[in-house]
Amino acid sequence: KKIVIALDGYSSCGKSTTAKLVAAELGYAYIDTGAMYRAVTLYFLKHHIALTNPREIKDALDKVEVEFHYNPKTARNEVFLNGLNVEDEIRKMYISNQVSEVSVVPEVRHAMVAQQQKMGRKRGVVMDGRDIGTAVFPDAEVKVFMTADVNTRAKRRQEELLEKKQLVNLDDIRENLQKRDHIDSTRKESPLRRAEDAHLLDTSHMTIDEQVDFVLEKVAS
Ligand code: C5P
Repeated sequence: KKIVIALDGYSSCGKSTTAKLVAAELGYAYIDTGAMYRAVTLYFLKHHIALTNPREIKDALDKVEVEFHYNPKTARNEVFLNGLNVEDEIRKMYISNQVSEVSVVPEVRHAMVAQQQKMGRKRGVVMDGRDIGTAVFPDAEVKVFMTADVNTRAKRRQEELLEKKQLVNLDDIRENLQKRDHIDSTRKESPLRRAEDAHLLDTSHMTIDEQVDFVLEKVAS
């Protein structure tokens, strides 16, 4: 029987890396919900949408179409915004610096959550984000809440950005992670928090393989 696996947690704990590998192992789809909020943020910045104007936000959301398409060249799902591949653009720091403010907006969350529920309705998905186990799929069969020491997280994120040829100062990254964690945990609408039935996974001293095994063990039990 196919299930839903919800991976939530703080920024840069290894959620997406773990989710991708778990999905590959099980033959499930992997859905990166953070990428969806990042794509909306890119659209809002491009079109100068005022976050204080609900009408403007609603109209903008009607025009936003976020999709995932598999790219055989990179062997991964890439994010498309209104038909355009924005996979690289949405990972840049200027998006990371705005995405949590956009994600606070209830209208934005309602639109994204509805789409995510549709994507997972046949189950057989690994979804990573901040509110999957609490709001998107409260009935997910396996829930894991990931956390890690902030310095470890900042270093990992720096290496990831470096691989994409983006040089970012460690302090700037740490500041961004902490700012996002704070906004994400204190917003009114489905704040980042561990679901009561989520398994806690601290990845500070874990390898990727160990993280993947942890999740697979919960799936098997
Ligand atoms: O996962 P990622 O770090 O790419 O997510 C970027 C941001 O999108 C988060 O910091 C958070 O503000 C927002 N987000 C969210 N709910 C989700 C996934 C991401 O609010 N389910």
